[in-house]
Amino acid sequence: MAADQRIVIENCAIATVDADDTEYASGYLVIAGNRIEAVGAGSAPEGLENVVRRIDATGHLVTPGLINTHHHFYQWITRGLATDHNLFNWLVALYPTWARIDEPMVYAAARGSLAMMARGGVTTAMDHHYVYPRGSGDLSGAIIRAAHETGVRFTLARGSMDRSEKDGGLPPDFAVETLEGALTATEATVKEHHDASFDAMTQVAVAPCSPFSVSTELLRQGAELARGLGVRLHTHGSETVEEEKFCHELFGMGPTDYFESTGWLGEDVWMAHCVHMNDSDIAAFARTKTGVAHCPSSNARLAAGIARVPDMLKAGVPVGLGVDGTASNESGELHTELRNALLINRLGAHREAALNARQALRLGTHGGAQVLGRAAETGSLEAGKLADLVLWKLDTLAHASIADPVTALVFGAAAPITASFVNGRQIVEDGRLLTVDEDAVARSTRDEAQRLARIAAQG
Ligand SMILES: [Zn+2]
Repeated sequence: MAADQRIVIENCAIATVDADDTEYASGYLVIAGNRIEAVGAGSAPEGLENVVRRIDATGHLVTPGLINTHHHFYQWITRGLATDHNLFNWLVALYPTWARIDEPMVYAAARGSLAMMARGGVTTAMDHHYVYPRGSGDLSGAIIRAAHETGVRFTLARGSMDRSEKDGGLPPDFAVETLEGALTATEATVKEHHDASFDAMTQVAVAPCSPFSVSTELLRQGAELARGLGVRLHTHGSETVEEEKFCHELFGMGPTDYFESTGWLGEDVWMAHCVHMNDSDIAAFARTKTGVAHCPSSNARLAAGIARVPDMLKAGVPVGLGVDGTASNESGELHTELRNALLINRLGAHREAALNARQALRLGTHGGAQVLGRAAETGSLEAGKLADLVLWKLDTLAHASIADPVTALVFGAAAPITASFVNGRQIVEDGRLLTVDEDAVARSTRDEAQRLARIAAQG
């Protein structure tokens, strides 16, 4: 849509998720080109020119699009395996299969992961991809192509592993890269694909996998590389008690102190999980503005524990939500994480005061934009920001009897989506993707999952 063309959405409830949590029981929103031009109470201003479409959104809640801050797309074709394992046993069970992935498999898995999220209201996605078997093709390129075709805003966290079993790590020797190989390939990916502009659809972060699969040197040099290139840093941290024990045994300190010693705390860093954090760890994250990708379903699936999200928020730590890889969260959509963040945190120390519906929605929108470094551009509905937004239909059987729309959205079942816009472009209509053929994507994911299973079985 050209910059002077407008779409007007009206007669809907609106949760802007701005700094004041402004909401309108009945309001309007104007999209001009790829930006939000106006949002407010009552009817849209009269006399707007070049209105190409007017949407009567009666019965809907409009929110910022959901933002996913942690995922591993390739796992879409290894879902439903090692279902009763903790993290370390699950990794050891799956690494040999993951080490056999190739470009067509990763492309199909990325399309499946992206389609599932996008049809559920995600407008900004990320993929932490860290398995690059030798000779497997251009995996990063395939993932970025899939994101472009699906039409979502996207951050590729170019991952890596260089600490295999022979160096005391967890991955098998054949599944890792060399230190130099990982750094060179990561730098090339940033230079080829990272776009620093306000309305960028593709960004790249530097993302060594985890303390138990990468060398201290890869963490150190990875941080220097990212800062030299001006891009963000991402990794897994403090996920399980086993990881904590591993860090104490190998490095003589806990994960947060280890990250600090390698340059991995800072406002340009976000970390997945952060389940096992003591008060001084949380204070260190708050002091340095290090972000957290909270992944409640995956943490429950792998019996990792409950992250202290209420304490993090109180301390001022930026927190977003993550699906995590779908080998540890088979649902693969973000609404479940809004709901589970709220419910699971209430099982922790703060009980019913842990999180409310509006805080959960904030984690899944503005909080996500913060940890991806894009809060100036997206994550809330404000004039001048990018037009990334969702129309949730709340007047059907699932939600019609709940008076408060934000409560209906977060506490209720996943709401039907009438329309989802990314960068001013509609990508979902009445629950179906407009950008890709969902049925064709589903078929290709099944075919590639079966091909991977066959190759893995041959050993
Ligand atoms: Zn993960």
